[in-house]
Amino acid sequence: MSTYFRNIYSTIRTVLIGMHITLRYCFAKTICVQYPDVAPTIQPRFRGFHWFEVQKCIACDQCAKACPVDCIYIEKTAARKLDKASGVAMGGAMVRYAIDYSKCMFCGLCTSPCPTECIHMGNLHDLSGYDRESMIVEFVELAKQGLQTPQPAWMHGVNRTNQLGAYGEQIPEWAAQTKVAWEESARPHREVMLKAMTEQKPPPKPKPAKPAAGTDETPPTKAGS
Ligand code: SF4
Ligand code: SF4
Repeated sequence: MSTYFRNIYSTIRTVLIGMHITLRYCFAKTICVQYPDVAPTIQPRFRGFHWFEVQKCIACDQCAKACPVDCIYIEKTAARKLDKASGVAMGGAMVRYAIDYSKCMFCGLCTSPCPTECIHMGNLHDLSGYDRESMIVEFVELAKQGLQTPQPAWMHGVNRTNQLGAYGEQIPEWAAQTKVAWEESARPHREVMLKAMTEQKPPPKPKPAKPAAGTDETPPTKAGS
């Protein structure tokens, strides 16, 4: 009998706890924004779709090896090496650098081992598309268009009237400004980005510095010579 009443008490108590939480959120301040009309607030350390500097990439595969879901694909024609003087990688041509965002979990593990610091987590949070193929971003193809980061399809000014009935050619002001900022940040690098897709003579190997005469570092001579 006591179990019967304990169960009734437990049920009522559980429902009241659940309803208390529900009621609290009913009267809480609304945090939804009318995206894309209103820009979302991006936190400083947000990990969004990548930002890639193809001209610095030496196609060493370190990022692909670090990726826990194997969603980075890299192809080159020959070894590439960073020219420290110019900060640009030379040697073989970059053929492909792609990330499959239907697999990526935005962990950021690919950015840490990069020896040239050319792959970064960006602040783009939206990569809308209509099929899985459009979730594979070809960064080398983007670089040919002078871009370092992908853009959501709706930001291209695509006429979505027939698809969603919400937007025409116009995109919200904040999106237009963001798009210009992305393009402008890549503009100074467009020439070197294009060079990354062609074979360039690798930088010469630095010659070892001659030790100063009379110092302890002078190599020992053969006995009797
Ligand atoms: S963020 Fe994580 S899952 Fe995505 S490509 Fe980088 S390592 Fe892979
Ligand atoms: S992005 Fe960095 S780690 Fe990945 S292949 Fe290029 S240089 Fe190597």
